[in-house]
Amino acid sequence: MAPNDSVPGLVTADPGLPRPNPTHSYWQHIPHALADVQSPDLPTDQDFAIIGSGITGLAVAKTLLEQHPTATVTVLEARALCSGATGRNGGQMAANAGEQYSSLAETHGAETAGKIVDFTFRNLEKMQELIREYDAVELSEMQNLRKLRVFLTQGKFNEFKRSIEHLEADHPSKKGLYTIVDADTVVKNHGIHGTFGGALLPAGTVWPYRLVTKVFSALLEMYPERLKLETYTPVESVEYTSPSLSPAGAINFYTLRTPRGPLRAGVVIHCTNGYSGHLLPKLRGLVHPFKGTMTVQDPGNSVPNRGAAFSWGFHYPPSSDPQTKRVGYGLYYLGQSAKSGYFYFGGENARVDESVTADDSFVAEHSVGHLQSVLPKFFGKTDISNWRLIGSWSGIMGETPDGLPIVGQLSPALTGREGDGEWIAAAFNGYGMANSLMSGEALALMILGEDVSSWLPIAYGLGEKRLRETLTIPKAVDALSKL
Ligand SMILES: Cc1cc2nc3c(=O)[nH]c(=O)nc-3n(C[C@H](O)[C@H](O)[C@H](O)COP(=O)(O)OP(=O)(O)OC[C@H]3O[C@@H](n4cnc5c(N)ncnc54)[C@H](O)[C@@H]3O)c2cc1C
Repeated sequence: MAPNDSVPGLVTADPGLPRPNPTHSYWQHIPHALADVQSPDLPTDQDFAIIGSGITGLAVAKTLLEQHPTATVTVLEARALCSGATGRNGGQMAANAGEQYSSLAETHGAETAGKIVDFTFRNLEKMQELIREYDAVELSEMQNLRKLRVFLTQGKFNEFKRSIEHLEADHPSKKGLYTIVDADTVVKNHGIHGTFGGALLPAGTVWPYRLVTKVFSALLEMYPERLKLETYTPVESVEYTSPSLSPAGAINFYTLRTPRGPLRAGVVIHCTNGYSGHLLPKLRGLVHPFKGTMTVQDPGNSVPNRGAAFSWGFHYPPSSDPQTKRVGYGLYYLGQSAKSGYFYFGGENARVDESVTADDSFVAEHSVGHLQSVLPKFFGKTDISNWRLIGSWSGIMGETPDGLPIVGQLSPALTGREGDGEWIAAAFNGYGMANSLMSGEALALMILGEDVSSWLPIAYGLGEKRLRETLTIPKAVDALSKL
């Protein structure tokens, strides 16, 4: 790394605005009719301004529209609709709270750790309910399946088993959620080679771009007067200004500056994921961008299509190559299209300075090459003459030092601005499909004055203790420096 690319410099850098020319994600290869939707003129006054049109922005917008009888809602998106992480991810609907249980319980106690397990698994069910409610099972190619997590070292497998034992001891109702399988069964029943064992858990796969765009489109039809989608409208700054009266009589304090002119709003909701630090400089380091690499690979006919029944995760201890300085971050994730047999395969093998960045305008050749070389081996394949790379791209996740999302109201100390009308739901640490929908819903309900503390894990909030102890720049630096 160059000296100014030191880990503290990387995590606290301004992520900037989403780059205007992102890599081409396979999920978006047929753009939705609303991909570049915008009003002829940007609305001037709205009750709620949501920044970001991924699954979190969608969940906030949907809940506000459903729960408030008159509110006007504008979603501002820097690029095309749903062109951030949600339109560029791995399509895995899977939770990771079981494997994290021991460390969560150690930091937050058994009750909160159990709530995180409940929240993430319930969120996955709600994803499937949303897909059914909007008649998107076919369109989004949703599969309700089992995920096979496998472990590439004995140490990782033991650590995982201990965490599941800990979960089951603290919360006996969770017995049966994870089914441990030994290495022989992994090869014989699942055709996966080179592991020390694994576990099966309930999960799913989905085409998230198709889901999110379909629901946005349905909301626009349902609420034509109250919802506006403004794509290609980057918010360049948020200012707390003197109050103005909206057409509905509300007092708006915020001005959002965009290249299409200003928009005034009473409440500003940041659903900006890895880019959050751009409009919220005081969050830099507490949330940092992390660039992920995805591939679509066609195995030809060399591997049976199990995409309707299984998805896969491959876990190994993170390590760094002393020569190339490339880090293997510990996880590969895999789904398979039940229709085409194509594999959707992602995972990171790149230098820290290549990974801690918000630039998804290119994808490193060596990261793609790595994903091409490891996948056939998991299936015991050496002859890969029929194996083809269909596509590759990068996308930007939001990460926090403690690995948990941030959901809640932003104090003036965090916005650097007056006022208490700014809120955030962001940084799902690579597990948005297990968190974003209910986090967005919870945030909207909190904004409307409801108490969600019985189901939103307190550890996702921006409480003083978290800001003092676990959500800190030194912790972020520490986590990355160990690699
Ligand atoms: C390569 C990759 C693979 C992943 N795989 C999985 C997976 O398999 N399963 C899983 O659960 N999760 C996965 N994730 C994570 C998951 O995609 C995210 O957690 C989730 O999509 C976050 O949704 P979001 O709406 O919060 O953010 P995003 O979808 O990133 O949306 C944020 C939006 O805000 C916009 N924006 C930002 N700043 C501004 C601004 N100033 N003005 C206007 N607009 C702005 C962005 O353009 C973007 O569209 C993956 C992520 C990546 C990148």
